Amino acid sequence: MQELHYTFFGCRGSHPVSSKRVMKYGGNTSCLLCEAGDHLVLLDAGTGIVAAGEYLKEKANGSGKISIFLTHLHLDHIMGLPFFHPVFDRDYTIDIYCPKDEKVSLQEAIYRLFHHPYSPIGDDGIKATIRLVELPADCFRQESFKIGGDLEIRFIKEHSHPKHGVFIYRISTGGNNLVFATDVESPDGFGPDVLEFIKGADVLIHDSQYFDADYFGTGFPKKGFGHSTASMAVKNAIESEARKLFLFHYDPDYSDSDLEEMLGIARKSFRETFLSEELKKFILRS
Ligand SMILES: [Zn+2]
Ligand SMILES: [Zn+2]
Repeated sequence: MQELHYTFFGCRGSHPVSSKRVMKYGGNTSCLLCEAGDHLVLLDAGTGIVAAGEYLKEKANGSGKISIFLTHLHLDHIMGLPFFHPVFDRDYTIDIYCPKDEKVSLQEAIYRLFHHPYSPIGDDGIKATIRLVELPADCFRQESFKIGGDLEIRFIKEHSHPKHGVFIYRISTGGNNLVFATDVESPDGFGPDVLEFIKGADVLIHDSQYFDADYFGTGFPKKGFGHSTASMAVKNAIESEARKLFLFHYDPDYSDSDLEEMLGIARKSFRETFLSEELKKFILRS
């Protein structure tokens, strides 16, 4: 039986937060580690990837190969990379996959983080073997990646996030399916292609940046910012027949108690809703 272990290392959206108000669910930005046997897959490289690197260092029994799949190149999804321990260890090979951008190459976007004026690291400081793979942004389900064993990653483009959309990823192994859908906005629910793609996931991790009141609010409404409310996440979980929903990519202004209030509201419509929580590990068994 192949198990899928998944650990949240960063659940916050937009920018990291350090505050007593967020101690329980955490203030680091988007990063999820998936482990299937020796195979390591990271989804996004926000500030949460720093702690993921420390975890891997302590564990030190992996294959030395890490695959990182980026949903998109917004800073909150990549800003942890220059502080990710395996980058500085020559025993690691790191494959970084990202949607192709028309205006900037992945090489340029990622390497910029490691070079002047943003960083003193430079080429000499990078010890791991890093391979960059641009995924065609118009690709729809016809491509999948076998990472090792029967661990498979598929992706689909979702266009709502300004200005170039994101990739939603689906990880499958041993009959277990996990979907990672962050930085999406679907006031009317996902369209049929995306719903079909995520259908029947055992675990759906979904952008839940806002309460409805803040999304539609009168003061500074967040509609059109490219993010979901918890209600949208619930609607998509129900319509795609997900077994379990994790709320994710929380607004940096929300405290732990705000998130628990959000969970309470969501559970009224979908009981199997949970809050993603930094450093919390789960195991998926088929
Ligand atoms: Zn984001
Ligand atoms: Zn974004």
